[in-house]
Amino acid sequence: MFPTKAYAAPAVSAPLAPFNFERRDLRPYDVLIDIAFCGVCHSDLHQVRDEWGGAQFPMVPGHEVVGRITQVGSEVKNFKVGDLAGVGCMVDSCRTCPSCQDGLEQYCETTGMVGTYGGTEPGTGRPTYGGYSNQLVVDEKYTLHISKKLDLARVAPLLCAGITTYSPLRQWQVGAGHRVGVMGLGGLGHMAVKIAVALGAEVTVLSTSPGKEADAKALGAHKFVVTKDEAQLASVRNYFDFILNTVSAPLDLAAYLGLLRRDGTMILLGVPPEAPQVHAFSLIGKRRRIAGSLIGGIAETQEMLDFCAEHNIMSDIELIDIKDINEAYERMLRGDVKYRFVIDLATL
Ligand code: NAP
Ligand code: ZN
Ligand code: ZN
Repeated sequence: MFPTKAYAAPAVSAPLAPFNFERRDLRPYDVLIDIAFCGVCHSDLHQVRDEWGGAQFPMVPGHEVVGRITQVGSEVKNFKVGDLAGVGCMVDSCRTCPSCQDGLEQYCETTGMVGTYGGTEPGTGRPTYGGYSNQLVVDEKYTLHISKKLDLARVAPLLCAGITTYSPLRQWQVGAGHRVGVMGLGGLGHMAVKIAVALGAEVTVLSTSPGKEADAKALGAHKFVVTKDEAQLASVRNYFDFILNTVSAPLDLAAYLGLLRRDGTMILLGVPPEAPQVHAFSLIGKRRRIAGSLIGGIAETQEMLDFCAEHNIMSDIELIDIKDINEAYERMLRGDVKYRFVIDLATL
């Protein structure tokens, strides 16, 4: 067993504090990763506050993990000691159901994917603990290769924010000739802008924050619409082929569905605590669609990391000490982050 240092929420909504536990011994296909950086996703905050139900405590959040391999199990083929490695939102799945066979492990149909935290570790039955910790044991099958070309701290958020926006853009074959709206310029939103621009789409940020316009343009967005401004909103009515909705808070979807052109699709990525309300008229008049998407499979996550390395795409981050995590949560709630907090685990 590997004695491990971490930060955990001891109970629902309680501040995170130092926590010690043990990682399992290496199985034949396991690697041990010395964690260098871990991104802070809004999902961490939702779960620490148990806004989705079913949260288990103590909780060590963190599913945007990058670091270096320090040990490998006897049968590991794809990694060696010293390699850079990443782990996203899942550390296992059943491996045999049709979705797992299709490389879409996030949609595992039998056991469900095993979350990097808040899940149950197969074999031991113990809770899984995430990346706000100094090391992680994970099966190589759920481990990603990270390019040496990119700044490691700025790569961490790709493991969730990057893949969660890349996967639907690829699934709907978004590219040149498409008009894409990105609702919410936060961690997911700013990655959606960078990736959609790299894929050749015309990108508009739909934001409640007028102060983010210059940043949106610097990220590559072609247009910026303040959604609280009726006139600005009217200028993009019936306009978009796709809207990626990354908003973490409840909101009235009707006004935004009206921004889709005929046959346009809104893809729900954000998971506010309350279910969205939709009137059929918002959809039927223009044959509009609402879809959803959950992170991405392991193979697609590797494809996304390679795509980002090729296009020099990284997250815009603010590096923090782990002792400042509770303040970072408060700032994320206020929208005061440009555009992802990343924990420097050297501070643990
Ligand atoms: P974030 O960095 O906090 O960004 C959320 C953005 O939503 C904010 O920056 C803000 O953008 C906008 N927003 C916040 N409150 C709002 C309100 N009351 N009304 C309208 N807009 C509001 O969060 P994130 O890490 O990107 O995560 C976003 C959501 O995606 C969370 O719910 C998270 O759980 C979910 N998520 C889903 C998946 C998946 O697989 N589907 C994966 C990861 C995360 P503006 O200031 O520009 O308006
Ligand atoms: Zn996440
Ligand atoms: Zn499965």
